[in-house]
Amino acid sequence: MSSRIASLLDHVRAHAENRPGVYRMLGPSSEVLYVGKSVRVRSRLLSYFRAEPGEKAADIIGHAHHVEWEHTPSEFAALLRELRLIKQHRPLYNVEHKRDRGHCFLHLTKEAVPRLHVVGRVNGASGDYYGPFHGPGAVSEVVRAVNDLLELRDCAADTPMRLADQGQLFPVKLEPLCMRGQLSRCLSPCAAGCTHAEYHARVTQARAFLEGNSDAPLVLLRERMALAARRLQFEYAAELRDRAERLEALRGWMVSLGRTMKRLSFVYTVPGYAGEDRVYILRRGSVRDERPAPRTPEEHEALAARVREVYERPEPETLGLKAHEAQEVMLIARWFHLHPEELEHGAAPGA
Ligand code: SF4
Repeated sequence: MSSRIASLLDHVRAHAENRPGVYRMLGPSSEVLYVGKSVRVRSRLLSYFRAEPGEKAADIIGHAHHVEWEHTPSEFAALLRELRLIKQHRPLYNVEHKRDRGHCFLHLTKEAVPRLHVVGRVNGASGDYYGPFHGPGAVSEVVRAVNDLLELRDCAADTPMRLADQGQLFPVKLEPLCMRGQLSRCLSPCAAGCTHAEYHARVTQARAFLEGNSDAPLVLLRERMALAARRLQFEYAAELRDRAERLEALRGWMVSLGRTMKRLSFVYTVPGYAGEDRVYILRRGSVRDERPAPRTPEEHEALAARVREVYERPEPETLGLKAHEAQEVMLIARWFHLHPEELEHGAAPGA
């Protein structure tokens, strides 16, 4: 063991306690190499010094020049703190939270003639975002199917639109600007193929489907499947069946996301180490505020006022999320999935 690592070990032995917390391994220039959490920080840190060569822990401690930690009141607090630190520092060794590339969102744009498309992250463009989903490839296929079935456009944002009710000084027969229009897979708002209201009726159907409130694309797909089978186009019918299965999977996911988001709206009291209890105000799966658990009548009143403020703030009831919220929502959903007994520490916002 090098003298550097031996002195890190002495430091941990002398100061770390066996209680929940987060720790950081820092490189020679104090850059954060790794962020971790544990319910027993001291034991976890000591385990790094026993790691066998070739193990990730041995690699991390081999590169560490400083070890820092902070104790938290509970495992839940450590979990949140770890996520926030990883987001802030994006440490080299934290591949788990860093790898966002496997996720994607559906974005229903807020343009005059909206589009539904897949984006890797919420990029600030206005509109509704749905997700996150795993597997951008499969999600792209589903979106293509929804666009084709509801005949929504999928061209570039700057494609010129000519709606039928737009009014033209010199009426001319327009041709759709791409094959989708010619193949009746798009209403062709670029070529006066529909009015503004007709197009927006389809956008409303797409939104209702994404919110889990409508089956319209599935119904259309099943009708086409039945027609293909009647025409003995079995290969095409099988392709449509596969598409329908993917659409159903997406709809199921949206419905369960909606239920989870609704369920994760409560005031969560977490008993803390040595009486450091904390209260988290959760709304739709993200922490909107947190503070030490109230002890005096004044603190109870202040908490109640804050809860009212958080819950009375108007919020769209869509399933849309911002990217920075998405991982926290997933983390919190996973926490209660793994610890369902913790739901007993929750109180309805008005309670
Ligand atoms: S037909 Fe026109 S509106 Fe539709 S996708 Fe093609 S270019 Fe866009």
